[in-house]
Amino acid sequence: MKKRILVAEDNEDMALILHQLLESHGHEVTLARDGVETVEMATSQLPDLIIMDITLPKMDGLQATSRIRRNPKTQAIPILAVTAKAMEGDQQKCLASGCDGYISKPFTVKELRGAIERLLKNPRQEPQAMMRRSESKPFKTR
Ligand code: MN
Repeated sequence: MKKRILVAEDNEDMALILHQLLESHGHEVTLARDGVETVEMATSQLPDLIIMDITLPKMDGLQATSRIRRNPKTQAIPILAVTAKAMEGDQQKCLASGCDGYISKPFTVKELRGAIERLLKNPRQEPQAMMRRSESKPFKTR
């Protein structure tokens, strides 16, 4: 099924790879280069899914996610965080800020695809690690 996916990624190579990969999976992709642009594009485009790099200029992915969650127009959009480090603390922060799941770089095509499909199928499920499960259950406000 074709979905509209907003990719927030400031690294040119990673943005290009994600763009081509997601398009090859049949999705329509738009790119945001920083956190401010991501919030603006999320609001104007209302995508089906956001893939959110956490390390973004101007406003990081955690702040951008919090803003998207606070806006009634955008609060239900599934957000998949992409963390640079496979650190438990970072992952918990992602979930606390309102992301629905995360994957850690480096990830495989299969991991990315699996995480996206799970989120698109069950967007309102409890937040969870898409690839690596964590024992502690994160607090969720929505
Ligand atoms: Mn980055």
